[in-house]
Amino acid sequence: MALKVGFIGAGKIAQSLIKGFTNAGLTAPQHIIASASKNDVSDLEVIQKLGCTATTKNTAVVRQSDIAVLAVKPNIVPEVLAEIRDVLEPPKLLVSVAMGITLRKLESSCLENAHVVRVMPNTPCLVATGATAFASGRYASEEDCELTKSLFSSVGTCYQVPESYMDVITAISGSGPAYMFMTLEALSDAGVRHGLPRNLALKLAAQTMLGSAKMVLETGQHPAVMKGEVCSPAGCTIDAMHMLEKEGFRAALMNAVEAAYLRTREAG
Ligand code: NAD
Repeated sequence: MALKVGFIGAGKIAQSLIKGFTNAGLTAPQHIIASASKNDVSDLEVIQKLGCTATTKNTAVVRQSDIAVLAVKPNIVPEVLAEIRDVLEPPKLLVSVAMGITLRKLESSCLENAHVVRVMPNTPCLVATGATAFASGRYASEEDCELTKSLFSSVGTCYQVPESYMDVITAISGSGPAYMFMTLEALSDAGVRHGLPRNLALKLAAQTMLGSAKMVLETGQHPAVMKGEVCSPAGCTIDAMHMLEKEGFRAALMNAVEAAYLRTREAG
C-alpha cells in the first residue's frame, strides 16, 4: 500500500522533501497532503502544482497520513502541536524537522506514548543528495526508525544518532548548504573578476566541490592529506592556502558553525 505522507508547513524544506520522496518513488503526489498558513498562498499553490493536496487544516494533514512531518518554524511548533495533539494518536509517527526543538518538548506536547522522531535533513534532499540525521523518541519503535531511515535514505544519506548530537548537526549539515552556496558564489565571483564567464566559473567551482566531497567520502582519507596533494612545493595552491590561513578561513567557518549551534540551542 502507498505510503501517505503529510506535511505541516509547506515551505522550503517541505517542498525539497516532497520532490525528493516522489522522485525517489517512495510515495506519489496523490498520497501527499501539506498544510500552510492561510496567508501563505504561494506555498499552497506550489503544493497544488506538485499534484499534492494543499490545505490550511493541520488536523486534516494528520488524519489523512501515515506519517506527519512537522515542518514549521520552531516558534510555531507549540501552537501546531496544541492543535494536532488529539488527532495524533499513537502509533502514528510524528517526524519533526524543526530546528532545536527537543524530543522532550515534542513528546510532552503530544498524547502520552506518542511516537516521535527528531530529524535534521537539508535542502539537497531535493536532488537525492541530502545529509540527514535523526534521533528517536522514547516511544518510537524499531519500525518507526526503519521507516524514517528508509524515507530519508531515499533522498541521500541518513544516520541515526544520539539526540545530544542534533544541535551541532543542525549547524553543520542543516545550515551547511548555505555555507557551500556562499563558497561557490565567492569562487565564481573570483573567476569573473579575472575574466571568466559567470556560468563557466560557477560550473567549474560546483564540480570541484562535488569532486572533492566525493573524494572524502570514497577514499575515507583525511581532507588534510588530500589538500597536501594539491599543494606542489612553491606552487600556486600553497600561496592560496597561506592567504586563506592569513584571512582566518578556518576560524571563520568554525565561528559560523558555533553561531548556528548557539542559535539552535536557544530555540530548544
Ligand atoms: P518556511 O518559512 O519556508 O516554511 C514554513 C511553512 O510553515 C510555510 O509553508 C508556512 O505557511 C507554514 N506555516 C506557518 N504557520 C503555520 C501553521 N500555523 N500551520 C501550518 N503551517 C504553517 O521554512 P523552512 O525553511 O521550510 O523551515 C521549516 C522548518 O524546517 C524549520 O523549523 C527549520 O528549522 C526546519 N529545517 C529547514 C531547513 C532548510 O534548509 N530550510 C533544513 C532543515 C530543517
